[in-house]
Amino acid sequence: MGAPEALVENEPLAPLTTFGIGGPARWFAQLKTVDEARRAVAFAALRKLRVHIIGGGSNLLVADGGVDGLVLRLDGTDEFGRIEPEFSDPPVWRVGAAVPLPRLVGETIRRGVAGLEEFSGLPGTVGGAAAMNAGGATSGFGDLVAAALVIDADGEVRRLTGGELSFAYRRSSLAGSLAIGFELRFPGMIAPEDLILKATRARERKAERQPLDKRSAGCIFKNPSGVSAGKLLDDAGCKGMRAGGAEVSEVHANFIVNAGGAGARDVATLAAAMHGRVRERLGVELEPEVKCWGFELRDTFD
Ligand SMILES: Cc1cc2nc3c(=O)[nH]c(=O)nc-3n(C[C@H](O)[C@H](O)[C@H](O)COP(=O)(O)OP(=O)(O)OC[C@H]3O[C@@H](n4cnc5c(N)ncnc54)[C@H](O)[C@@H]3O)c2cc1C
Repeated sequence: MGAPEALVENEPLAPLTTFGIGGPARWFAQLKTVDEARRAVAFAALRKLRVHIIGGGSNLLVADGGVDGLVLRLDGTDEFGRIEPEFSDPPVWRVGAAVPLPRLVGETIRRGVAGLEEFSGLPGTVGGAAAMNAGGATSGFGDLVAAALVIDADGEVRRLTGGELSFAYRRSSLAGSLAIGFELRFPGMIAPEDLILKATRARERKAERQPLDKRSAGCIFKNPSGVSAGKLLDDAGCKGMRAGGAEVSEVHANFIVNAGGAGARDVATLAAAMHGRVRERLGVELEPEVKCWGFELRDTFD
């Protein structure tokens, strides 16, 4: 199988991330069709290239020197950006992995389909939300996933259901494979006005608690069982700590913001200092939530 037509070299990744940080991808392809996606994965397998998938780039920290291997991005303007609603009982919708999550949330609310209203204000794509099992402390996007279409390492499309799929706190069995679409099963129908109210409240809560006006990648660390990492970091006095252009948000101590010109090295230095301070003062070992490409955040901890 030949190289994908869309293949380019040394593509800058910083503009594709919400942090706005990081070097280029050695190889990069933006994929419009299932056939292109199959060819890209098979090409990578043949050339033994490590594959990375980028969605909305809202949970990513890319190394300043960039990332080796092949970075794949699904294009949302064609089949990977489709939403096919079905108003069965319960409603089951077929959704492309490149659909922006805010668009899907808006569409379900408008049509009175319950289940995503609490996700209002969450950035990224449907593929990223499923891979990360994004959401709140107790629920995740994976609760809605009835089936996932993925491209396996041989470039074949597989439909995964039931026991072939697993979701846990901020992780899923999809990590490492290219998910191209989902069947989402929603709990039921509710009056759109009620959903709008719930979504507005969720967005307001987020705006109060998160620095949404600054560039970030969401929470840097996972919550340890039963405790908020943000609270621990706050108690340890991390708010306002800085390294180069990276700063711990005054609004939420688990958010590092790019205060201007930050590099991945600044973020990693700051994350290591935060990690060390929580361990030293509270005896808790925090685990990274943000996905790092080109380096391991853990390797920067003492
Ligand atoms: C301001 C802000 C607020 C946030 N609030 C929250 C929050 O409240 N709760 C929460 O859980 N998260 C939150 N996040 C983090 C982030 O938005 C979520 O993790 C989001 O779901 C990631 O989606 P994405 O498309 O941006 O994925 P990316 O950041 O592009 O990728 C994240 C991971 O998913 C994988 N991935 C992406 N697409 C695919 C695919 N098609 N197939 C297979 N794997 C894929 C990537 O390889 C990577 O490992 C926040 C981020 C920001 C910037």
